[in-house]
Amino acid sequence: MNQDRIILWYRNDLRIHDHEPLDQAIKTQAQIIPIYCFDPRQFGKTNFGFPKTGAFRAKFLIESIADLRNTLQKLGSNLIISQQKPEIAIPQLAQELKVKSVFFHREVTAEEIQVEIALHQALKQIGVKFQSFWGHTLYHPDDLPFEIKQLPEVFTSFRKEIEKKSTINPTFSTPKKLPFLPEVELGELPTLSKLNLELPPQDSRAVLVFRGGETAGKERVKNYFWQQDCLKVYKETRNGMLGANYSSKFSPWLALGCLSPRYIYEQVQEYEERRVKNNSTYWLIFELLWRDYFRFICQKHGNKVFYKSGLQGVAIPWQEDWEKFRKWQEGKTGFPLVDANMRELLMTGFMSNRGRQNVASFLTKNLGINWQMGAEWFESLLIDYDVCSNWGNWNYTAGVGNDARGFRYFNIPKQAKDYDPEGKYVKHWLPELARVPAPKIHEPGKLSPAEQEKFGVKIGINYPQPMIDLWQSVKENEKIYNSALKPSIRKQKYSMADRY
Ligand SMILES: Cc1cc2nc3c(=O)[nH]c(=O)nc-3n(C[C@H](O)[C@H](O)[C@H](O)COP(=O)(O)OP(=O)(O)OC[C@H]3O[C@@H](n4cnc5c(N)ncnc54)[C@H](O)[C@@H]3O)c2cc1C
Repeated sequence: MNQDRIILWYRNDLRIHDHEPLDQAIKTQAQIIPIYCFDPRQFGKTNFGFPKTGAFRAKFLIESIADLRNTLQKLGSNLIISQQKPEIAIPQLAQELKVKSVFFHREVTAEEIQVEIALHQALKQIGVKFQSFWGHTLYHPDDLPFEIKQLPEVFTSFRKEIEKKSTINPTFSTPKKLPFLPEVELGELPTLSKLNLELPPQDSRAVLVFRGGETAGKERVKNYFWQQDCLKVYKETRNGMLGANYSSKFSPWLALGCLSPRYIYEQVQEYEERRVKNNSTYWLIFELLWRDYFRFICQKHGNKVFYKSGLQGVAIPWQEDWEKFRKWQEGKTGFPLVDANMRELLMTGFMSNRGRQNVASFLTKNLGINWQMGAEWFESLLIDYDVCSNWGNWNYTAGVGNDARGFRYFNIPKQAKDYDPEGKYVKHWLPELARVPAPKIHEPGKLSPAEQEKFGVKIGINYPQPMIDLWQSVKENEKIYNSALKPSIRKQKYSMADRY
């Protein structure tokens, strides 16, 4: 080992497998100093006043850091934990330990880049080098068949091009041993209460008990692919909403980097060799491409993804009606599919992809409410919050993002009948509707007084009246949307008949 020291700045990459900064630091034979900073800014409030990191994700994060520290200790190293901003903690540590360089995974969005800039400036002043790596996606930007500024605005064009012309790099090897740390203050793992957060009791109706960390993430891959053999039917089950295995549930581990997408890719390849190769095994990678796509889109467009007018720059006069918004947040809209999903999110920090698309469409296309409020509510609650996937998907669903094909909306009762035909999901989260039979469960507002009596539900008392007329609201919001569109886009406008 040489005498040089390198700080390894951990961010949303909480793992030791497929980790290029760690791999490169090992190759230099320097002493490696891993650090994670619980940045106080991440525990402040969003613009609309929600906790920026809610208790579900904070718990998952604390578990992930504990797991990383444990893993590093087993390899002979350790993890320094700081409660300060990186641009304060890291230069201090660098000076104390006479460090030469800082290695880290770079991010693509505004707040994260600001931290990188502030840290870079502070390190420059003390003569410490700053070296960034790319590591969150399946495809490396250097291997894309186009420059980021030429990235296609339509997902399918992106996918077809890269599937034809690009390859996915193999994973970096996982270290078996690491250099010990010099004498240094290690810092304590914060508790939820130290972060001023309180976790609701674990809800037994949750899809899964999500436990943070690389160890649990790999366990989930093993369980979903190899033990339960779910990958072979993923394409058929992925639109479900109930239970642990309709989809992979890898997202929380991917969001914090406990799992690398390339590790999942290699596991899929192995599964295809040893078990079966079919549409389902392909489809999981297809979905990971969406994740890549939103990251590259954020890189291409910078801050636009956070603007009210979105990536398209469409000045829609969105409402900020808090009374209506609260009904949506609390799952009291009177539309069971929306309410069940919003209550699941509130009680567990998770919601299926099908659910997310429906509730986001309802908020924006039926209620006409500012989509940024919805995006921030998701940011606060989701265990798997990922800045690019969340804001990119909200842009998309609100009709201000990529592939904006005019005013498209989800037909909520139809979606409910297609994806929850027996009402099992709705009943799981809305016990007040437990006795309403399947044909009527998705439109309880239409139950007659005699039926309400018979099924033990009182509309307007223990379950809300529908808060709006679905079709009327969609018509009104379509008019608003279309008159806000730029003339060039308006030409391509799809009519009301073009529905999901
Ligand atoms: C309004 C809205 C907000 C969203 N916010 C987030 C978010 O903050 N974080 C997040 O990880 N996903 C987000 N998604 C995408 C998607 O809903 C979740 O990735 C998925 O539900 C996670 O469950 P899973 O891991 O079981 O997914 P699976 O169906 O098993 O898919 C495998 C993986 O593919 C990726 N993936 C799947 N669908 C998408 C998608 N539409 N966009 C990007 N990646 C995708 C995820 O990494 C996922 O873990 C959002 C979708 C919508 C409509």
